Amino acid sequence: MTATNEVWVWLPHGRGGELQPSAPELLYEARGLARRLTAELIALSGPEPAPGEAETLRAWGVAGFHSLGTPLAAHPLCPDGRSPLEAFPGIPRVFLFADDAAGKVLAPLWAAEHGAALVTGATGITADGQRFVAARPAFGEQYEALVSFELSCPLAVTLVPGAVGEAAPPTPPVPAGDAPPAAVERGVALRAAPGSPQPVTHIHPPDPETVDIADAERIVAFGRGAFTPEAVQLVETLARLLGASIAGSRPAADEGWLPFSRQVGLTGAIVRPVVYVAVGISGAPYHMVGVKEPETLIAINSDPEAPIFGSADLGIVGDLHQVLPALIARLERGEAVAGVRAAPGAEARR
Ligand SMILES: Cc1cc2nc3c(=O)[nH]c(=O)nc-3n(C[C@H](O)[C@H](O)[C@H](O)COP(=O)(O)OP(=O)(O)OC[C@H]3O[C@@H](n4cnc5c(N)ncnc54)[C@H](O)[C@@H]3O)c2cc1C
Repeated sequence: MTATNEVWVWLPHGRGGELQPSAPELLYEARGLARRLTAELIALSGPEPAPGEAETLRAWGVAGFHSLGTPLAAHPLCPDGRSPLEAFPGIPRVFLFADDAAGKVLAPLWAAEHGAALVTGATGITADGQRFVAARPAFGEQYEALVSFELSCPLAVTLVPGAVGEAAPPTPPVPAGDAPPAAVERGVALRAAPGSPQPVTHIHPPDPETVDIADAERIVAFGRGAFTPEAVQLVETLARLLGASIAGSRPAADEGWLPFSRQVGLTGAIVRPVVYVAVGISGAPYHMVGVKEPETLIAINSDPEAPIFGSADLGIVGDLHQVLPALIARLERGEAVAGVRAAPGAEARR
């Protein structure tokens, strides 16, 4: 049976029928995956939704809900070696479970019954254009192993409660699709038409707004710390002033603040800019692996312990809402910040 273009989440409920704290984490990862796969997000559970639960699920972008009509506890788990999830026909592309008592039984059973791959105890799951990538602790949690699968492979995943952290339904200001950046022909005038002896007279520099971020010379990237319309406006103003492209972390793409093509990191783009400004980005290894030795890395973060400062040439500890206006004012006066000046002729429009 071929998989339907859906991402399923098994909603964990407590004995009293209440949603467990791991539910938002599952919904967060599942929503990100569903957006990346342009798939529908479907929630499944034992009990019918409690009052208010349907609203919560809608806020997460859940498109469909199916229940067994009774809490799972009333279903003896696999009395005959089969799973109660048989009641749900079809195979999604990914089925996410909490790595709790129920998930640890249901996920392997479901995977075995449907010939799906299984990743247990994952700390995160995402997809890039070619593959699913899940992270799971290895060697007594000293390392994190990355496990990847073809996108065509149906997958069951159990996610360790607490791995994602606090998660709330996203509220991006604009629905961000993943329209590919407009084609930018760099140095187009260098290529003379065949047979034409015309000399090269001009090289068009790429437009920072449309250039592939892998080719961008200056990048202003933002992360979860900048998920407000005001912060994004400041980021845009700074980028315009620097003549920089805008990029971001995986949450920025997953939560719809940026197209996926603008995500930097392991499952995003590898960038090699001369200048990289990181705003409200913690500097997690899966992000930093995509930032290849910029000449100047400027980090702005309110947490003095943020790992990003370990890679920064200039680290500014502070709230971006105060720091960015000060930086912008300085650049507008023609002054340099860590040796970096505004792009010639750039105007920051507020
Ligand atoms: C398999 C897998 C693949 C992944 N691939 C990628 C990838 O390709 N790219 C990627 O980026 N991540 C990837 N991740 C996720 C990665 O592990 C981190 O979770 C992610 O990079 C964190 O994003 P962030 O820095 O935006 O958010 P957070 O880690 O939440 O950091 C937000 C930061 O903002 C700061 N902040 C908050 N408010 C303010 C303020 N007002 N002013 C200034 N600073 C503020 C906080 O102090 C914090 O440091 C992957 C994860 C997995 C499991």
